[in-house]
Amino acid sequence: MNDRIKMLAPLVEIDGDEMTRVIWAWVKEILLEPFVELKTEYYDLGLSERERTKDGITAEAAEAIKKYGVGVKCATITPNEERVSEYGLSEMYKSPNGTIRAILDGTVFRAPILAKGIVPYIPTWTKPITIARHAYGDIYRNTEAIVCENTNAELLLTLPDGTEKRLPVHSFGGSGGIVQGVHNTDASIASFARACMNYAADTKQDLWFATKDTISKTYDRRFRDIFEEIFAAEYKEKYEAAGLSYFYTLIDDAVARVLRSDGGMVWACKNYDGDVMSDMVATAFGSLAMMTSVLVSPQGYYEYEAAHGTVQRHYYKYKAGESTSTNSVATIFAWTGALAKRAELDGLPALADFAKKLEFSVLETIGGGVMTGDLFSISILPEKRQVDTKEFLIDVSRRLKTA
Ligand code: NAP
Ligand code: MG
Repeated sequence: MNDRIKMLAPLVEIDGDEMTRVIWAWVKEILLEPFVELKTEYYDLGLSERERTKDGITAEAAEAIKKYGVGVKCATITPNEERVSEYGLSEMYKSPNGTIRAILDGTVFRAPILAKGIVPYIPTWTKPITIARHAYGDIYRNTEAIVCENTNAELLLTLPDGTEKRLPVHSFGGSGGIVQGVHNTDASIASFARACMNYAADTKQDLWFATKDTISKTYDRRFRDIFEEIFAAEYKEKYEAAGLSYFYTLIDDAVARVLRSDGGMVWACKNYDGDVMSDMVATAFGSLAMMTSVLVSPQGYYEYEAAHGTVQRHYYKYKAGESTSTNSVATIFAWTGALAKRAELDGLPALADFAKKLEFSVLETIGGGVMTGDLFSISILPEKRQVDTKEFLIDVSRRLKTA
């Protein structure tokens, strides 16, 4: 144990809920701690700690990422009414990811992990599609209300000089209904645009962006204009020199074109589009459990996580004492992404090398025919074997020891 790899600065470790919390502990025990003297600052975002701290712990974790630069996060429950009664919550706390994204004002990049034997549902997708999700505003920071009949809804703007501007939303007549107010800021859209343009250039991929600006002629149009202004002023020459392109189209046209493409682009999406499309793209590439996710802030803070949730259905089986075959790959890659970033920032080649070897061992395990149930059902390998959650980790560790 003495020759374990040492770390310099701590990694912000953010624990979570249900099956992914179980996997979290096993990944550390089986794949990380035997090889690395982990140095982490631990934040428990499991629901009971969020309840105990009235969700203060979530903002503390985000602040810690600002302090140390790199975090790794386990999936967490976003409470709904069922969860409020299941966990006896005093409030329906907001999505921890939403809170963290709002504090870091970052962009989320999601890319699938491609493994031998796992063939995408769209056979032409031979290259990964990276989805960049704008992580601020729109319906994720909305104000909404149920309104009764004969209510008049207006948008009221109070200008800096105190004058008021009213815009009609809807006059509800005989039927009540619903209203919502959403916003975004030029600053956030601009940093989203720059994050996408930098990331696509760094990874040598074309950048696509789409909104619904034919319908939303002011709100969505603003996104399009900011992207175009920044591209023309700051990136056009660099892209031309590198043979890369920036391509804008309507969101529905983008969906149709992506389906016909061979992949290999960064697809910048507004917040909601990115939420939905990343699940579609992940599933089409094989499994939601093979999707990585990294939040990159304009100041250069990084938070790595798996794109999937807490895998509740498997957790209930686990709690009932049954064996589960839950895929830990995206959780492992969240750790390797964070460790590699720590290694890069702190100048630790041994740690960077470890992260690479661990990723390699995971892919070798799956390519070698050993996999969890989600992959077993789609792998085209002639010889394959389904293992349970822990067996998979143990198999990876065996390969890692000889890597
Ligand atoms: P989920 O946890 O992503 O799981 C949905 C289904 O996808 C699972 O039931 C399972 O299908 C499959 N799946 C997902 N990850 C898998 C894995 N690692 N291995 C094998 N199969 C996997 O979504 P959910 O059940 O809708 O949400 C559960 C909780 O997660 C919710 O409370 C939600 O708030 C939270 N959530 C958190 C995050 C986050 O923190 N980033 C993201 C999304 C959702 P089968 O049941 O068919 O095997
Ligand atoms: Mg989603």
